[in-house]
Amino acid sequence: MKPNMLKFIKNWPGEIANLLFPGICRHCGGDLDGSDTILCPDCWQGLRQSMSHSYCPTCGKDIGKFELVDDRCHRCKDKRPMISRFGRLGRYDLTLRELILKLKYQKRSTLEGVFGQLLASVLISDPYYTDVDILIPVPMHWTRKFIRSFNQTDIVAIELKKQMKKQGRHLKINYDLVRTRRTPPLAGLSDSQRREIIKGAFSVRPDVNFANKHICIIDDITTSGITLKESARAINSAGAAKISALVLAVAGQD
Ligand SMILES: [Zn+2]
Ligand SMILES: [Zn+2]
Repeated sequence: MKPNMLKFIKNWPGEIANLLFPGICRHCGGDLDGSDTILCPDCWQGLRQSMSHSYCPTCGKDIGKFELVDDRCHRCKDKRPMISRFGRLGRYDLTLRELILKLKYQKRSTLEGVFGQLLASVLISDPYYTDVDILIPVPMHWTRKFIRSFNQTDIVAIELKKQMKKQGRHLKINYDLVRTRRTPPLAGLSDSQRREIIKGAFSVRPDVNFANKHICIIDDITTSGITLKESARAINSAGAAKISALVLAVAGQD
């Protein structure tokens, strides 16, 4: 099979959509303005609204205007989190929520590029991420990935890596963080229930060493942050020098 053909088939949902419906917004079906090939001005506006809230760069939660002291809000000012920096696109609401759901359940390949670009802009604009070496997408248990056929967090990490490469930053993606057991969905559970379920559910493959590395964990949605914390615990035990996180959205905000 010719490489071009293979590329075409790999990207078929976006390619087919472009052939069948040129000029149509991939989210709402509205008209695109001339230069954009994915989202219409209204959907971009909705996305900007989900992304417009200020947040704490240490815990990722929404903050008031003058709340930060030394990059910490009142929730995390006395804590020593293993994840030392937290970046996000926005709140898990409105257009951002709808687009993430499309990525998650419909594998809309046209949206991957949007998320990759937006995450890259967070990573580039915050000097804390300057020395990131490795991206680690939060893994699904292999049985779930087998059924779904893809992990949207892997896809987002790959797009982010591509975007960073365009900026001259070469990041690696590492898949040595694994889920050691399958866990039930956490939606609707209290923080303590979530903690109990997730505790010890991640580990880094034996003989992997992240010494001197700045690892940035990538996730799609976080609510309590417990999945990220447990991932960080495993990555830390493999010797990482610095751990940060970058997510598409934070849920459970007031
Ligand atoms: Zn639209
Ligand atoms: Zn905070």
